[in-house]
Amino acid sequence: MSDPIALQAAANFAAKYGYEASGVWSAPGRVNLIGEHTDYNEGFVLPFAINRRTYAAVSLRGDSQVRVSSTFSSEVVEVELSAINAQSVSGWAAYPLGVVWAVHEKTGSWGSGLDIFIDSDVPVGAGLSSSAAIECAVAVAVNELWNTNLGRRDLARIGQRAENAIVGAPTGIMDQSASMLGELDHAVFLDCRDLTAKSVPLGFAEAGLEILIIDTQVEHRHSEGGYASRRASCELGAATMGVKALRDLTIADLDRAHELLDDVTFRRVRHIVTENQRVLDTVAKLEAEGPRAIGDLLYGSHASMRDDFEISIDELDTAVETALRHGAVGARMTGGGFGGAAIALTPVEIISEVTLAVRAEFEVLGYGEPNIFAVSAAPGAVRVI
Ligand code: ADP
Ligand code: MG
Repeated sequence: MSDPIALQAAANFAAKYGYEASGVWSAPGRVNLIGEHTDYNEGFVLPFAINRRTYAAVSLRGDSQVRVSSTFSSEVVEVELSAINAQSVSGWAAYPLGVVWAVHEKTGSWGSGLDIFIDSDVPVGAGLSSSAAIECAVAVAVNELWNTNLGRRDLARIGQRAENAIVGAPTGIMDQSASMLGELDHAVFLDCRDLTAKSVPLGFAEAGLEILIIDTQVEHRHSEGGYASRRASCELGAATMGVKALRDLTIADLDRAHELLDDVTFRRVRHIVTENQRVLDTVAKLEAEGPRAIGDLLYGSHASMRDDFEISIDELDTAVETALRHGAVGARMTGGGFGGAAIALTPVEIISEVTLAVRAEFEVLGYGEPNIFAVSAAPGAVRVI
């Protein structure tokens, strides 16, 4: 087995618990190629699983205790299976323990106790969903060791349930869907209304392209208030237009929206409506023409978030414009906004040129140092050892 972090997780498990893990399971982080703030409007998103993964080395125990530990901290968190709830667990351990709890909630029974050790190379808080990676790695492990035979879509829901009910974060299903359903060089096209998912070929490898992640390292400033007010505008827009969700509007409805809505609400609505169309157009172009044809859609998404949804910041705009000036095929901010990362679809041969150019521009403008690295589209959660 050549996966170094998987071996390291197994070795760390043995050192921590004094016996060998029965297996190691892993699941990827994800990046959203296009489709931002469309999820809670019952629209479309197009994330892909990345080649940064979280590993869970796991064994069954003979009793009903669960122990979890991680390279994150030296503590071992130990709890009785039936005592796991939102009050009894907190911090990072709520992610893996929440998953154990959610498998029980779904199946109605507990398996034996577990020892779990977590290792990872998914950066935390960079918008790459280290949380979905840890949830999905533990979900596939528990599913196999407890013989619960849940399918990948159910396991994605289990990750979301853990995050909503035990961690206490009101997140959607996108991240876990990408981490569970990802395939090599494919994206996951997800309809957030009926939760149907389809694998879409990206063709990045054949076209010599990679996605450069430009993490501005700016913490999501004012993101809570900003997020709540964007959601409220979307709800107001849908109610005024007489639809269940903005998903139900198309570009042909925008003239009427312009007449009925105040300026700010109209621009928020226009972002969602055009973004949904851009996701559909991206899928169509990837299938018909390949990835070099999606550059304008990526930039269109960025401009819409900057001007209509107003969730970009100077660092993200600079990252996008600099990458494009130096030859990226397309670029956009990704994630919720007010900080975080941009992505740039970049020919492999100019990755270092673009990286250096963005770094230099950030320095000139006095911004903090960005963290820049390339990712490719990788397979979803799997047993590795
Ligand atoms: P992200 O955008 O990376 O998903 P979140 O705040 O949603 O950010 O989730 C990050 C949290 O997930 C961390 O603060 C930690 O509690 C947990 N986590 C992620 N990876 C690990 C890991 N390898 N070991 C322990 N906890 C982890
Ligand atoms: Mg997360």
